[in-house]
Amino acid sequence: MGHKKSISCKQTKTCRREFLLGLGIVSAGGAFAANSCGASKSMESVQNLKADVLVVGGGTAGTIAAIQAARLGAQTVLVEAGSQLGGTTTTAGVDYPGLFHAWGNQVIAGIGWELVTKTVELNSDRLPDFKKKNPSESHSKKQVRISGGLYAALAEEACLQAGVQLRYYEFPISVEQGTDNWKVRLAGKGIQVDVDVSQIIDCTGNASVVGMIGLPRMREDTIQPGTLIYSLDGYDMGHLDFKTLGDKYAEALKNGHLLQGDMLHGVRGFLASHAGNAMHVANADSSSSETHTKTNIHGRQSLLRVMRFLKGQPGFEKLRIARLQAETGVRETFRIVGETMITVDDYTRGRVFDDAIAHSFYPIDLHDADGVKPKPLAEGIVPTIPLGSLIPKGSRNLMVAGRCLSSDRLANSALRVQASCMAMGQAAGATAALAAKSGETPLNVSLSEIRKTLKEFGAIVPA
Ligand SMILES: Cc1cc2nc3c(=O)[nH]c(=O)nc-3n(C[C@H](O)[C@H](O)[C@H](O)COP(=O)(O)OP(=O)(O)OC[C@H]3O[C@@H](n4cnc5c(N)ncnc54)[C@H](O)[C@@H]3O)c2cc1C
Repeated sequence: MGHKKSISCKQTKTCRREFLLGLGIVSAGGAFAANSCGASKSMESVQNLKADVLVVGGGTAGTIAAIQAARLGAQTVLVEAGSQLGGTTTTAGVDYPGLFHAWGNQVIAGIGWELVTKTVELNSDRLPDFKKKNPSESHSKKQVRISGGLYAALAEEACLQAGVQLRYYEFPISVEQGTDNWKVRLAGKGIQVDVDVSQIIDCTGNASVVGMIGLPRMREDTIQPGTLIYSLDGYDMGHLDFKTLGDKYAEALKNGHLLQGDMLHGVRGFLASHAGNAMHVANADSSSSETHTKTNIHGRQSLLRVMRFLKGQPGFEKLRIARLQAETGVRETFRIVGETMITVDDYTRGRVFDDAIAHSFYPIDLHDADGVKPKPLAEGIVPTIPLGSLIPKGSRNLMVAGRCLSSDRLANSALRVQASCMAMGQAAGATAALAAKSGETPLNVSLSEIRKTLKEFGAIVPA
């Protein structure tokens, strides 16, 4: 493996320079004219890349996986179908990652924590008081409020500084396994890219690569609802007639002007939280462009119903949107069948797996049509994540990180949260880089080497 922090384009050094020029990392010099790498001047061009690690999906987990792999010197390509990094944290607006702390102590750190704290600092925000131990206090008080857009910018900067080749607006259309490499074809806007790579980390949230190569995935008949995050403003709770509003709300539900899920917690609860996270999109599914399109349309249609309903009621003459995310957040689609499956019993009793590589900490948090009643963990419990839950059973040179890890449904409802996804991402990035270097498949990489590496890069590894 060429252990250099560089972009690995098979064409020429000029081509690499053009890529960097496009990113503004190097300045244009006279000798390097546009299109000098030999790619077609037409919109359709074909490019070949060779890399050590390909991370598919630049969301909560994938961003961290790519930074870790590249910081270890692996030639790393990060392909993201959207326009920015961060996924659910940024594009879906779940900009309150949790939980890095358990029972007053930090249990998850590393690259995710580094980016989260940088975002807080640069935006003059404040971290919660993690030391304050009040068992009755909601877990949400210990989540870190960040600016999603700023996090995306800082994550992008960290990727570029580490030498990650970022590829937005692209996604794999074929994945074939060779003896000790993968041939992945990416499609993008006006471009097709063929990548020859040693290790893949599937961070799509949907285990899409795992599905493409035909390895088994699990999925519930009815998945948890999603949420389009938005905020409403321009009304005064103290001047609303909730009796009349409640009657009008019931009437609107009856005549179909509003649908169940448009306003959670009743009209008062919904308005008190200014919408925020208080709506549900049934069957929200991001696992294909078709279902994802429907999910986003349903989220926005709900918003329009709510605004039109409220605008017709007294006290909402100045109603306005203060914030509206570009995508509906999706809680659940596919999970892999991994070498190890984390059960809810493992999670709630804080099982320390032999191959534990990270902690996780969150209540069991399964949403249904009525909302969610989080079930906190018993005092002192800190669950762990085994390496085997990130490795699809029967696979070679392939890992996942993020919400699609191998776990039963209830365990997954807690494992899917962001600090845990970031910790998984870092562990998968380190393991894939070490695997590419040694020529081993991730399952055979020395566990002590993985743990030592993670600690060197600031992560907390279960004792
Ligand atoms: C409404 C809602 C509220 C939540 N509340 C909390 C909370 O309070 N605290 C908390 O910590 N967590 C919360 N979560 C959970 C958490 O945010 C997610 O489970 C987590 O962010 C998922 O991370 P991920 O990396 O697995 O996926 P994502 O962050 O969704 O990233 C997946 C990325 O892959 C990209 N992608 C997908 N397919 C492809 C492809 N084929 N090719 C290229 N790119 C692709 C996507 O564009 C995306 O950027 C919430 C989730 C939702 C939806």
